[in-house]
Amino acid sequence: MNRKYRKTIIAGNWKMHKTPSEAKVFAEQLKSSLPRAKRCSIVLCVPYVDIPVAVKLLKDSRIAVGAQNLHWEEAGPFTGEISAAMLADLDVKYVIIGHSERRNLFFESDLTVNKKVHAALKAGLHPIICVGEDQDQRELGVTLELIAYQIKTALAGVSPEDMRHIVIAYEPIWAIGTGNTATPEQAGQVCSAIRGVLRKLYGARIARSTTIQYGGSMNEKNAADLLAQEDVDGGLIGSASLNPETFLQIIQAANQD
Ligand code: PEP
Repeated sequence: MNRKYRKTIIAGNWKMHKTPSEAKVFAEQLKSSLPRAKRCSIVLCVPYVDIPVAVKLLKDSRIAVGAQNLHWEEAGPFTGEISAAMLADLDVKYVIIGHSERRNLFFESDLTVNKKVHAALKAGLHPIICVGEDQDQRELGVTLELIAYQIKTALAGVSPEDMRHIVIAYEPIWAIGTGNTATPEQAGQVCSAIRGVLRKLYGARIARSTTIQYGGSMNEKNAADLLAQEDVDGGLIGSASLNPETFLQIIQAANQD
């Protein structure tokens, strides 16, 4: 982390977990046990149906609500889809875009990621753009090239002014939901390479001030070491965000120096 230049953001990704009733219990518990220190921003990316209850309960707290996906069109015949304007109207602040589960299970491409980024920015949302390599790509030694391509494509046409709304999440696919966390050095190396790509695209000032999270089996035990890396500015957390106690411990870790 480097709080001098950029925000530290701890974001939970609930995926397809928790009913609205369960979300209510979680939000009440999290809100009542938040630490006083406000050194990191907190986001909860919940299933669409949980958004109204989460927004209502977290309204006066410092926890922002996020979604996990959106459609790039403003409206139209897209059965089952949700637009950026619909999310913004519910007071959603962040939206995960290009999660590897969306890319792999729902065939999202780098080009649709780019369209979604533009739709989110237009509606005033903060995109959390996920990038990351799978096990084979890591073993082949193409991680940095792949990630550079994913970042460049996701950000095509995004203006320097809009970069202050963007969050990048480095999520190695081999670490997601597997319990195989990247080592702090691996996470730090790729996050630093991402900052290098941003520097080439937008210059040093914007690269320095962009939040780059790590995601992939981050938990209460490994969070402090991962966050100690200069270029790891927070976490995108799946499993460990489903329990308010473990999520709070990660928030505590992000509040430390
Ligand atoms: C994720 O889905 O973004 C994620 C990082 O999951 P987990 O923490 O469970 O690996």
